[in-house]
Amino acid sequence: MTEVTVTACVSFGSNIGDRYATLAGAYTAFCAHPQIEPLAPSRLFETAPVGGPGGQGRFLNTVLKISSSLSPHDLLARCMAVEQDFQRERKIRWDARTLDLDILLYGDQIIATADLEVPHPRMHQRRFVLVPLADVAADMTHPILHESIADLLARLPVEPGDVYPIADTWT
Ligand code: ATP
Ligand code: CA
Ligand code: CA
Repeated sequence: MTEVTVTACVSFGSNIGDRYATLAGAYTAFCAHPQIEPLAPSRLFETAPVGGPGGQGRFLNTVLKISSSLSPHDLLARCMAVEQDFQRERKIRWDARTLDLDILLYGDQIIATADLEVPHPRMHQRRFVLVPLADVAADMTHPILHESIADLLARLPVEPGDVYPIADTWT
């Protein structure tokens, strides 16, 4: 039987510790799974923290487009397992973190469960998500808003220095 694969996009963020080493290590750990095939990484961006407690350092943010035969919930479990590998702690909402992996898009599917919402419910409000996402999936359509990622990004106001490209590769 042929395995069904879906194109999905996962965001990677870090603002504690050696952010670059964390993202590169997380990429390797994440893609070691036999049912996750990397298709395209975005560029690497440094971004201003949004929400959460003040005084946080700037983030490194990226997005990885993958092909996967994992179910949405199994993909979430994989994201959380890799976060644990990098000592992610959850005490205060939107606090600084070593590693954050969010599922942004899972094909054109809409998932609304207690522990998983896809498309990620805040992605369309966040330039630190949409800018890297547009690198790899500008033409993908948001299945609830029915607009392309490029069009969603074009709507968001730009704050100088909020999302700044710092490298072409991070993997
Ligand atoms: P935000 O969701 O606003 O980006 P966050 O990433 O800091 O905030 P977390 O503490 O990492 O939030 O995650 C809280 C919960 O969100 C997780 O336990 C997970 O079950 C749930 N969740 C819901 N939808 C998603 C998704 N699309 N990707 C990752 N986690 C999700
Ligand atoms: Ca997040
Ligand atoms: Ca998260």
